[in-house]
Amino acid sequence: MHEITLVTGLFEIIKEQVAARGIESISKVRLKVGALAAVEPMTLTACFEVVAEGTVAEGAQLEIEEVPLTGRCRGCGADFRIEKFSFICPCCGGGAVEMTGGRELYLESLEAKMKPL
Ligand SMILES: [Zn+2]
Repeated sequence: MHEITLVTGLFEIIKEQVAARGIESISKVRLKVGALAAVEPMTLTACFEVVAEGTVAEGAQLEIEEVPLTGRCRGCGADFRIEKFSFICPCCGGGAVEMTGGRELYLESLEAKMKPL
């Protein structure tokens, strides 16, 4: 269960935010997930709902945005989107391609209600 580990990690960050900013409740959580993070959005949402139960994030909506896989050619320096896991530069045909995006999973933003001062 890869997703439950990710959700547990995500909640560590959420808890820090809640403590630091005095959040009363969370209505929406936006995540960015790379194409290579190997995450199943349905499973991630289900895990999120389970972990969120009884916390300030209970009932919050989870929004998942997929980040495409991108690379940079070491030969000519071109930046491009990697389609179908083809690690070949479309400009010069070189095979020395460095991955620049698509592996990440991070918390993009939270929509929250603050505690009254
Ligand atoms: Zn190239």
